Amino acid sequence: MYGSQAHLSRLARLQDEEFDVVVIGGGIIGAGIARDAALRGLRVALFEKRDFGSGTTAGSTRLIHGGLRYLEMLDFRLVRLDLRERETLLRIAPHLVRPLEFIMPFYRSSFFYRAKMRIGMRLYDLLSYGKSLPRHRFLSASELKELEPNLRQQGLQGAAVYFDAQANSPERLCLENIIDAREHGARTFNYTEVIGALRTGDSIQGVRVRDLLSDDKAEIEIKSRIVVNASGAWFDRVAGLLTAPAVPQQIRTTKGVHITCPPVTNRAVVVFSPLDGRLMFVIPWLGYSWLGTTDTDFKDDPATVQTNAEDVDYMLRSVKDYFPTLDTERIYFSNAGVRALVREEGSESSVSRMHRITDGATSGASNLISVLGGKITGYRAIAEEATDAVCAKLKATSSCQTAVTPLPGTRGERAVTDATNASPAGVTQETVAHLFNLYGNRAGEVINLAAESEDLREPLSPHAPDIAAQVVFAVRTEQCARLVDFLLRRTMLGFSQDQGQSASARVASLLAQELDWSPERTATEMHEYQNHLAMTQTFRNAKATTKQNAANKQPAVIERASPLVA
Ligand SMILES: Cc1cc2nc3c(=O)[nH]c(=O)nc-3n(C[C@H](O)[C@H](O)[C@H](O)COP(=O)(O)OP(=O)(O)OC[C@H]3O[C@@H](n4cnc5c(N)ncnc54)[C@H](O)[C@@H]3O)c2cc1C
Repeated sequence: MYGSQAHLSRLARLQDEEFDVVVIGGGIIGAGIARDAALRGLRVALFEKRDFGSGTTAGSTRLIHGGLRYLEMLDFRLVRLDLRERETLLRIAPHLVRPLEFIMPFYRSSFFYRAKMRIGMRLYDLLSYGKSLPRHRFLSASELKELEPNLRQQGLQGAAVYFDAQANSPERLCLENIIDAREHGARTFNYTEVIGALRTGDSIQGVRVRDLLSDDKAEIEIKSRIVVNASGAWFDRVAGLLTAPAVPQQIRTTKGVHITCPPVTNRAVVVFSPLDGRLMFVIPWLGYSWLGTTDTDFKDDPATVQTNAEDVDYMLRSVKDYFPTLDTERIYFSNAGVRALVREEGSESSVSRMHRITDGATSGASNLISVLGGKITGYRAIAEEATDAVCAKLKATSSCQTAVTPLPGTRGERAVTDATNASPAGVTQETVAHLFNLYGNRAGEVINLAAESEDLREPLSPHAPDIAAQVVFAVRTEQCARLVDFLLRRTMLGFSQDQGQSASARVASLLAQELDWSPERTATEMHEYQNHLAMTQTFRNAKATTKQNAANKQPAVIERASPLVA
């Protein structure tokens, strides 16, 4: 269908090689493992059945945080790990992970409630010892009104203010791990599905993969001494392909959705849903308010997850009373993801977010390492633990370098100021600043490319600073294979006001030139992007029902019953 002979032949050559480790899944955790293992000098191959970072990594709230919620759950080990990793990511990827100030307002609260909040805030600071971010503080109601005039004033007493961090694009955070893995010798492939294992008795000696970009969907056998299952929400499905007899389900999958609407806050605001006490985020992101999230069991293929009217209804009713000016009719688009949680009974939100690494030897599959659960925030540490387990099996002694090795966009000369002032190569200052935001120091390579021709300096859309050179750069250096890859995961055009629609035809034609697409293939790509857009709007399908539900249930804001905030 896709006709890319170059990709096919590259994959075919792998048949003659033997890898130390094959990683299944190119989400943030698989990418982190490939990078870690490659930096330790192992021979690595990674296979991702769609695009890198297109799974749960793209469906997250995009916070790099310890998680006050997990403090509530008394999961100190998880909170400490994530707060330490937050600091590491601020250091190794400052262009992708940035500090974010959070405000947690409190209304008509008791002395006990406020005392609990103070203890919670202090504990959060304590658990992030050694941090570079400011400590928490408290605001009076009048100070808060100045900062966040849209917050409901009635009953407002003040707020706690604390810092965490945000990854604007976890997709690019994932990609930079892939790029670094490749720079250290790893072979990484998107659109390559693992469909089975090479086995002798209990021993797994590699995988069978299908090249989804080749005309004939070629199947190839890849030899490897160790296989790592890092397929996130697809974990149990992949485990079923690798092990025989199949092991019992090991993960629990839950859906979480986000919606975007006109901005109602200047800073990230945390409120507690009056419906069930769950913590909700209202976060400034790309000029929107980004609202999230839900947590409901989801048993279907994670690739099919979408936002329905009930999800939106729940979220709007959870935040509406805090923001009387919120226009519930103006929801731009939604974004849904599926969490993979280490299997536990109980309510969805009570399940621990702590990851687990297991050795297949205990379940009849030697040479298999499994990664269950985990957060984006802790991905580097999880990857380190998994790679340690791989090394132990291989009896390799090299140690982890990823905490002290900056990601590619943080390496080399910054020169942002010079570049911004000089507008090199005829690229506008706005675009230069944008490129440095997106690529870090690798922006220089895009600017050099843009210097080659006027065509490459042309904007891709009247509404965004992105230029044509980025498409060429994405194909040549970032394994961009499809229109949707570029709009959603190589740039953030797909999250802009028009969701990349004004850029899509130009991008498709540039991709067609670079990748030698036929007109039919180009049309298919455009069509599939429209399908993606439709997926972000599925909540509209039963809007009438939603309105009806909202009209029937109008809860008042109540105080949260939680150990942290009373
Ligand atoms: C609503 C929501 C909000 C969240 N918010 C946050 C947050 O704010 N901060 C935070 O730190 N974490 C957050 N998380 C958690 C975080 O997103 C995930 O823990 C993380 O992205 C998991 O990464 P992963 O690599 O394990 O999974 P994925 O990103 O899903 O990667 C797994 C990959 O495996 C691939 N795959 C599956 N089967 C195969 C196969 N047979 N062959 C090859 N490849 C295969 C898939 O295509 C997929 O790309 C959130 C999650 C959700 C759902």
